[in-house]
Amino acid sequence: MAALEVDALDVHYGGVHALRGMSLTVGDGEIVALLGNNGAGKTTTLSAVSGLVRPSGGRVVFDGADLTRARPEAIVRAGLVHVPEGRRVFSTLSVHENLLIGGYLVRDKAETRRRVERVYGLLPRLAERRGQQGGTLSGGEQQMLAIGRALVSGPRLLLLDEPSMGLAPLVVASVMELVREINDEGVSVLLVEQNAKAALKIAHRGYVIENGACVLGGPAGELRGDPRVVEAYLGGV
Ligand code: ATP
Repeated sequence: MAALEVDALDVHYGGVHALRGMSLTVGDGEIVALLGNNGAGKTTTLSAVSGLVRPSGGRVVFDGADLTRARPEAIVRAGLVHVPEGRRVFSTLSVHENLLIGGYLVRDKAETRRRVERVYGLLPRLAERRGQQGGTLSGGEQQMLAIGRALVSGPRLLLLDEPSMGLAPLVVASVMELVREINDEGVSVLLVEQNAKAALKIAHRGYVIENGACVLGGPAGELRGDPRVVEAYLGGV
């Protein structure tokens, strides 16, 4: 059974037709990579799923519930949590305060604290820096913090937008390893990446999007060997 089903989504920004019949699925427990060039519509797809932009057509269904017109808070409560591009940690708040914010919709504050401790278990570097201001962390640590904050919301499916952006290759590898560990714990992932190579290493499946729609999809292993993907997204190697 598919956990997330995006069916024929259309999104317009004024005169710009950003999504044109975008369809994809993310199965329970899967990591699915969404690849494509700048402006293809990857970010818009995530924003439409998380309720930040209103589609003019199509449907978003999560575990059988139609969330197409649901409010962003309801979508988070349903277990779909978006980590936007650019990390967006609160730079003057401490690491610990940033993580607590992830629990803003969790009524049971003891549960929030338990989740924060679990994040520290997964990310000891954050535990060591719990009192440090978010803005003083390295780029990689800020990305880990943004993902950690999302985990405190209790996701069943994470929407990750370009987690590798601006990070050195070794740091990219550790962010991808973190995504894999999170997935091992049962969280599904829809991963938007410019770094197709890194994404296809950890993904089970992937899609290539062009002009607001998927033009290719399949198991990650197949995409890695597909001449069109190699040519356009893997630097022809
Ligand atoms: P990138 O990797 O550059 O973020 P993307 O694949 O995520 O690219 P989107 O950001 O989803 O692409 O953009 C899809 C299209 O919609 C582009 O043509 C873009 O210029 C346009 N677009 C995105 N956001 C807006 C907006 N707020 N207002 C107007 N047009 C927008």
